[in-house]
Amino acid sequence: MSGQGAPKPVAAAPVAPQAMPLKSTVEGEGWKARPIKLKIFGNLIQEVVNKNLCMYCGACIASCPIDILFHSEKEEPVMRGTCAACQVCYYSCPRIELPVAEVERQVFGRSRTAEEAILGIHVGAYSVKSKDPDVARRAQDGGAVTSLLLYALDRKIIDYAVNSGLTSGKPWRPEPQIARTREDLLNHAGSRYTPGGQVGGLAEVAIPNRSVVNFQEERIALVGLPCELQGSWRMGTHWIAAPKLARNLVFTIGLFCSKVFDYQKMMVDYVQGKRGIDLNNVTKVNIKRNRLLVYVGDKLAIDEPVEAVAAAAREECNVCVDYSAELADIAVGAIGSSPGWSTVITRSPRGDEILRGAVESGYLDMKPLDPVGKGIKFLEKLCEKKRLRDPSAYLRHETAFPKPEPTLVPLEIPH
Ligand SMILES: Cc1cc2nc3c(=O)[nH]c(=O)nc-3n(C[C@H](O)[C@H](O)[C@H](O)COP(=O)(O)OP(=O)(O)OC[C@H]3O[C@@H](n4cnc5c(N)ncnc54)[C@H](O)[C@@H]3O)c2cc1C
Ligand code: SF4
Ligand code: SF4
Ligand code: SF4
Repeated sequence: MSGQGAPKPVAAAPVAPQAMPLKSTVEGEGWKARPIKLKIFGNLIQEVVNKNLCMYCGACIASCPIDILFHSEKEEPVMRGTCAACQVCYYSCPRIELPVAEVERQVFGRSRTAEEAILGIHVGAYSVKSKDPDVARRAQDGGAVTSLLLYALDRKIIDYAVNSGLTSGKPWRPEPQIARTREDLLNHAGSRYTPGGQVGGLAEVAIPNRSVVNFQEERIALVGLPCELQGSWRMGTHWIAAPKLARNLVFTIGLFCSKVFDYQKMMVDYVQGKRGIDLNNVTKVNIKRNRLLVYVGDKLAIDEPVEAVAAAAREECNVCVDYSAELADIAVGAIGSSPGWSTVITRSPRGDEILRGAVESGYLDMKPLDPVGKGIKFLEKLCEKKRLRDPSAYLRHETAFPKPEPTLVPLEIPH
């Protein structure tokens, strides 16, 4: 018997799970758990948040099965409650590991071709403009995002969109919100250049005690920044994470992105504090051709180099290499098209079908994206520039938890 005969080994060598006997031949020794180091919320804080890698995508918040993670004032996830050590939040975080090539195979059903190395997997590239005067007036650029969502709502392709609205009492602070109507969509149009934790918005609809709807029966479109879609798909494709939350996504729209800013430092301290503009009166914020443009009514109240808010840029963007929302069904930005038009890259056949449906139904004007000049080539240049950042913290990270699949191949980053 153990402890009475031969000395008990101090630490058993790790055994592959399938080789572990169900019952020990030596009484008392057969039921030892395999020594796996648990990775829980504390590890996420240590390995991601404390290293300034957290881009506040909200995937950890959305994925916690006991609903104890929340958005914080500091734009970081916080825990309120007792952790069940399930590890789901840790393995949902795209900044722990993002095996892009594998995720792409799961999302698009194929790998990218050599021609798609820079722009990512895609079906088509277009310039697009809303035909709806209300959308055109409220939108950031050509109103592609709002019009596509409006078409999808009108045609009952989705029950609602999770996009980004404004926090009540905090002017110009974005937060994930549900848009069920044209009015909601118009209220959420335009860009806020600070992060809102979009994937956390899925929790609002998915977790019963935060929810107003039955998640199981709803079809959703998600709008987010490239990193937010990384969070959504890391969560949706990792076997230990929370694939059920991604199950009801009919399609995703990603926004092109070079960086975001800290809300307090950019909007409160600079625009309101230093430049004396009441944020309640701001009607539009834009960053174009390296200039910060802030409108009050129709008047341009700030027009100056974006360096004015350089100190407010968030540090986690320094390791981000995705400019054109490479994991979205439909990617939308301004770069590549004339003012007042949106550049739209459709990446999945479903995304292309939705865009074509919106054009055929009269929601949008569309023309091919200029293949030379300021069109695709310019967009590719910006994508290449962003690839020069160093993503090694998460693209090649080896996690301690054993993977069920063969080793995943990370995205090749051209230099
Ligand atoms: C932080 C940020 C950085 C960007 N950087 C670039 C860039 O470098 N180059 C470029 O070409 N384009 C960039 N864009 C995209 C651009 O500003 C427009 O969002 C895009 O061209 C779509 O315009 P639209 O008229 O079709 O959108 P609209 O019809 O006005 O709809 C905009 C949609 O974006 C959502 N949204 C607004 N703010 C946020 C936010 N913070 N997080 C998530 N969703 C949000 C809204 O809810 C709405 O659904 C950026 C956008 C953001 C939010
Ligand atoms: S997801 Fe699991 S490990 Fe993370 S905070 Fe929630 S209970 Fe804890
Ligand atoms: S999942 Fe997103 S919000 Fe959570 S720690 Fe990772 S990067 Fe931050
Ligand atoms: S630069 Fe990357 S990490 Fe930063 S907000 Fe944009 S997509 Fe997210």
